[in-house]
Amino acid sequence: YCQKDSCKKYEFFNFDMYLKVAMKEIEEMDILNALTDKEFILYYQPQVNLYTNRIYGFEALIRWDHPLYGLLPPFLFIDKLIENGAINEVGKWIMEEACRQKKIWNQLRYKDIIVSVNVSIEQLEDENFHLLIKDLLKKFNIKASSLNIEITEHEPYKLQKSVINNLKEIKKLGARIYLDDFGTSYCYLNNLCVLPVDGIKIDKFFIDDIEKNKKKYIVTKQTIELANQLGIDVVAEGIERKEQIDYLKEIGCYKAQGYFFGKPMPFDETISILENTSFELN
Ligand code: C2E
Ligand code: MG
Ligand code: MG
Ligand code: MG
Repeated sequence: YCQKDSCKKYEFFNFDMYLKVAMKEIEEMDILNALTDKEFILYYQPQVNLYTNRIYGFEALIRWDHPLYGLLPPFLFIDKLIENGAINEVGKWIMEEACRQKKIWNQLRYKDIIVSVNVSIEQLEDENFHLLIKDLLKKFNIKASSLNIEITEHEPYKLQKSVINNLKEIKKLGARIYLDDFGTSYCYLNNLCVLPVDGIKIDKFFIDDIEKNKKKYIVTKQTIELANQLGIDVVAEGIERKEQIDYLKEIGCYKAQGYFFGKPMPFDETISILENTSFELN
């Protein structure tokens, strides 16, 4: 009875096991122990430029390498982290780890590669959050222009002042702000007017069967048009088939992410992928 879409994403993992973990263990977990025991790990998923067929960045996606259950996906524990407030501590670790690994790309001559980090709204409520980013960029000698922050849509009038202030400060540093899962969740278009966003990520929902579903095609097309008019960037999420790419290019979307290009992978694997040549899409 697990109806989460994300359950289906991890076919390699025994489904009953999931339920057991989700229903019992995760309820009682001591998530801060996971942090001090260094059980969190960042996976990276390629982001591809459809003009050049090359990787321009990676999105950092957290996993919990649980001693008993193995690699756990974020839908099992992110909400818990937010509920119990641990997201702030874990979020700091995520940001630091992403910057540390970005520095390794830099040292390996991949200076242009962008790292995208998911940040929850709760993290942005801490008025000092932008200072953390500032310090980390300095500590690891990273250009702010190679950092993207991904946030999800919220009801703008419910946002604390500190959230908007943090976003403005982060932008001032030179990093970019993306609205994740665009068009699903709340879909308050006023976010586009109120928040200092540089780009949107069109949710997988629209991309899934864009070839067959006329409505999704139209909504995606108009969303891209909207972004173009606003002068902001667009990334399509969840590309699994080549045909989807043809449609996206036709309607002017030239950045994409999805299993077609690569699943989220451990950091070490990103290096060998970067060593290799571009994707052949023609
Ligand atoms: P998201 O930021 O929208 O990340 C995209 C999710 O879609 C990832 O799931 C990714 O593995 C999955 N995905 C990408 N391409 C495909 C595809 O072609 N097909 C399918 N079926 N799935 C695809 P993941 O890693 O399970 O993350 C789920 C969500 O958890 C993320 O959605 C994000 O909202 C949250 N999350 C992940 N890492 C972090 C983090 O470090 N901090 C915070 N605050 N949230 C995170
Ligand atoms: Mg994201
Ligand atoms: Mg997304
Ligand atoms: Mg998502």
